[in-house]
Amino acid sequence: MGEFELIDRFFRRNGAAAANAPSGVVLGIGDDCALLAPRPGMQLAVSCDMLVEGRHFLSTVAPEMLAHKALAVNLSDLAACGAQPLAFTLALSMPRADEAFLAPFARGLFALADAHGIALVGGDTTAGPLNVCVTVMGEVPAGQALRRSGARAGDRVWVSGRLGDARLALEVFRGTLTVSGDVFADTRRAMEMPQPRVALGVALRGVASSAVDLSDGLLGDLGHVLKASHVGATLDEATLPCSDAVAALDIPWRRTCLLHGGDDYELLFTAPAASDAAVMAAAATAGVPVTAIGRIDAEPGLRLRDAQGQAVGAPLRGFDHFAAETTATVP
Ligand code: ADP
Ligand code: MG
Repeated sequence: MGEFELIDRFFRRNGAAAANAPSGVVLGIGDDCALLAPRPGMQLAVSCDMLVEGRHFLSTVAPEMLAHKALAVNLSDLAACGAQPLAFTLALSMPRADEAFLAPFARGLFALADAHGIALVGGDTTAGPLNVCVTVMGEVPAGQALRRSGARAGDRVWVSGRLGDARLALEVFRGTLTVSGDVFADTRRAMEMPQPRVALGVALRGVASSAVDLSDGLLGDLGHVLKASHVGATLDEATLPCSDAVAALDIPWRRTCLLHGGDDYELLFTAPAASDAAVMAAAATAGVPVTAIGRIDAEPGLRLRDAQGQAVGAPLRGFDHFAAETTATVP
């Protein structure tokens, strides 16, 4: 199967699916460029994330789930900006053009794309190590994008959903932790099929003062907000939302999963304390639970209090691909 046959068979859509492309998509796959037309008054929000075998996913992952995750992590970035997704491109490098891989990969990709009403408008295909790079484009009313730089002293810190399940599943895969079969199925879903919080991000426009999505771990990603906003924060460990399985871990592992975990793809955001009702209304609109986990301080730095109100001294770092793993350094 040649490159163009592959694109035609698996990635170019005709009929109803193509006709359902959002109105902002003027031209999709097949020409040298796709053409997009954001509506008047809208800004184009663009984000790109690459998934590399062995680094971001295990070779055993099902192709559907790999495709889902490649698109989901990108949609999560749009969500963190409060942007409404329009379209995406796919750059795919793979050892060979294998139908047994491509058919389920395309299925997983379009299932999530259709759930968000977005179109695949282009990409690139090449032979090489398995590597999936998606670029998403969305629109947001000019000036209303949620940024990392807007947190102010006194704001509450919020997080959507729950934290740590993806990291727990990863450790089970690595053989460092064990859980029951049912728990593993749930946590594995969190790792392989994250649900980007797009509706929540859109609902938080004009409500949240800052936002970031949690890809590298709570502490690391909150650190980006603190740095961009020139503020500090105090988090209450006991309030961090998690599954029973994560709550049942010993304290060092629980902290690893909750604080340094990575791959949560929840939204972390801040809002003035006077906006609690608006935050809860946005969460209800989006159908996603949100939890207040701390507050923004004028004093720089990140402080963590345990259930007794005592300062926790864990090294406050996130996941950095070019740094050593954090697990060994957590007490
Ligand atoms: P060019 O050489 O002009 O960059 P290509 O020949 O690589 O274009 O691709 C032909 C068309 O197919 C283009 O519209 C391109 O965006 C699209 N395309 C290529 N690979 C993919 C892919 N994996 N998924 C979606 N569209 C793709
Ligand atoms: Mg060209």
